[in-house]
Amino acid sequence: MRKALSALTLLGLTMNTGCNTPSPASSSTTSAPAGATSAVVAMLDKKIAQYAPVDISANVDALPANEREALTHMVQAAQLFDELFYLQSWAGNPAMLAKLKADQTPEGKAELHYFQINKGPWDRIDHNKPFLRESVPVKPPQANFYPADATKDEVDAWFKSLKGKEHDAATGFFTVIRRGDDKTLKAVPYSEEYKATLAQAADHLRKAAAATSQPTLKAFLEKRAVAFESNDYFDSDLAWMDINASIEPTIGPYETYEDEWFGYKAAFEAFITLRDDAETKKLAMFGKELQGLENALPIAPKYRNPKLGAVAALTVVNVVFAAGDGNRGVQTAAFNLPNDERVITQKGAKRVMLKNVQDAKFAKVLMPISAVALPAADRAKVSFDAFFTHILMHEVMHGLGPHQVKTTNQPVRKALSDTYSAIEEAKADISGLWALQQLADKGVISADIAKSMYTTFLASAFRTFRFGITEAHGKGMALQFNTLLDRGAFVLNTDGTFSVDDSKIKGAVSDLTRDLMTIQAEGNYAAARELLDKMAVVRPEVQKVLDKLKDVPVDIEPRFTVVK
Ligand code: ZN
Repeated sequence: MRKALSALTLLGLTMNTGCNTPSPASSSTTSAPAGATSAVVAMLDKKIAQYAPVDISANVDALPANEREALTHMVQAAQLFDELFYLQSWAGNPAMLAKLKADQTPEGKAELHYFQINKGPWDRIDHNKPFLRESVPVKPPQANFYPADATKDEVDAWFKSLKGKEHDAATGFFTVIRRGDDKTLKAVPYSEEYKATLAQAADHLRKAAAATSQPTLKAFLEKRAVAFESNDYFDSDLAWMDINASIEPTIGPYETYEDEWFGYKAAFEAFITLRDDAETKKLAMFGKELQGLENALPIAPKYRNPKLGAVAALTVVNVVFAAGDGNRGVQTAAFNLPNDERVITQKGAKRVMLKNVQDAKFAKVLMPISAVALPAADRAKVSFDAFFTHILMHEVMHGLGPHQVKTTNQPVRKALSDTYSAIEEAKADISGLWALQQLADKGVISADIAKSMYTTFLASAFRTFRFGITEAHGKGMALQFNTLLDRGAFVLNTDGTFSVDDSKIKGAVSDLTRDLMTIQAEGNYAAARELLDKMAVVRPEVQKVLDKLKDVPVDIEPRFTVVK
């Protein structure tokens, strides 16, 4: 899944958790201005400008010829997934897309552009408001996974009437619900519903499998091709966990956010990527330092874990091509898959970080934010290397520190209840800074990272705040920001910008790491609640900066330059 993505959202990179619900104010028709044609174009251009266009590419030339051929087939399979996702999202999409493509007026072209960004006629970052001149219905929360004439109650009652395998199939990831000839509901496997397109995709994956000489990649491609036809994704999900290759494809039905009724049905998406070997090495290096970091945590020694368990699988890749649910609205910067609990039980899950996508967001969104939030002299201290290394360390730090209450052995998650997520995200973040400082002091990582990471973190806080502080990541960030401000580690300048005080930041970061981890070790709900109530707020001086960020893009519009 990608919704609960901690570090990235925390640092403001995913924001898939933002305005996802249909606006109750939306009527059944569009409200685009009539008449004045240039007004239509102007309105759409403003919306389109929220997504800064950016080239996304990876070092494909480094691959041998046969692997490049395999990659081409994977991309061709992925291209089919745009078509599938359009169809899954709304039955009216294919006809609407064809109509817009045929419209050569400036209005039609602008509409097509924003339609393609959103993969449909509703604005995904503006409460799903329709934006076409033509009338369209409210975005169907059931998408095209359930019959358009069904109600949620009817489908729910039908689910409850089913037993055993029938129930599992109907509520499973890989079926759509349709009406039979007698109007009763039935579950139709994706392998039937999307048969022709999936057969083409399987053909491309088999050609890719034939071309590659990397065994784990070949195994995944062959098994996934079979899954498209058999509708059984289990073996291929296991094979995906085992991929150890220069090309890392993620292609299939995965996330269930588009099913806003039940969150059961998986949408088709594809990320065809190349593994980033330098970052992978960096992660391996972190792995060796973990026990040392745990032993040095700034908490009472009795709260440290003398024997850490295995670290979660983490892969860093660069995207060559993304499609379907993996390329609509705000771009995915990382994901955690698979979602099938049976696979997770057997092999765990893998977190995949899309480095070049994060780099693009950093350049197009975070740098412009830093130009507003920081004094001119500090902007050079904002660095992608520090930013990305901190994201990696944030993920790693989720595994360190107390996970059980010392006195009761109760899981911290349970003890801290509704405060847990915000505290845990803040902990991973602040202790990530603490850990990087430790490694820099030891000479394990470059001192440049430690020099720039605090200012980079300060700037990135504003990207998180932009999307509100109603959920865990925003709350966690506000808690850290205000604490550092009160400690004098972050300083408000007279011109309304913010800076880091180098003489105070290390101590403040260490102390907050101690405070949060101690709350966790003690399972101290009251302390967690008080801290969040007091600190997880947007203060007026922060709001002033946010008010100045209106023209900074919200996200990027990727252009996959390797593919053409
Ligand atoms: Zn996190």
